[in-house]
Amino acid sequence: MENKLRLEIVTPYGLVFSEDVDEVVASGSEGEFGVLPWHAPFLTTLKIGMLTYKRGSETGYFFVNWGYAEVSPEKVLILADSAERSSDIDIERAKAAMKRAEERLKEAEKFDRARASVSLDRAIMRTQVAEKRSVK
Ligand code: ATP
Repeated sequence: MENKLRLEIVTPYGLVFSEDVDEVVASGSEGEFGVLPWHAPFLTTLKIGMLTYKRGSETGYFFVNWGYAEVSPEKVLILADSAERSSDIDIERAKAAMKRAEERLKEAEKFDRARASVSLDRAIMRTQVAEKRSVK
């Protein structure tokens, strides 16, 4: 019985990641949760947050934007609106998105406040995740 967990991250833009890892920690709507191989099955919604995996001495970081996690004994399937590995995050783009959202929040009567607010959350989280570079 192999002690590996397949982590698969899928978005409408394509397959972001599909590899065997030792451990996954993700941001569920109800809080952070960790998964090791042979975890009991469960399904949860995800919020805008960071997902981390460990494989030996390696740690990988992803930005994850909403969605679902389906946990089964040998697999964690993440279905997200968008997701990027920390090293793929364009920090300048995230900073521009942050500035745009902040400007829109200042002019709340002209823009959809809720939309600007989640856009800001995404941009802030992307800059935080981008600072975490994978350690091998
Ligand atoms: P923006 O306003 O910059 O488009 P957004 O939060 O609206 O950001 P999303 O709707 O979450 O963007 O994602 C659209 C696509 O662009 C996805 O493929 C996502 O992975 C990618 N993407 C968005 N922002 C970044 C970024 N800063 N770095 C890399 N990829 C990004």
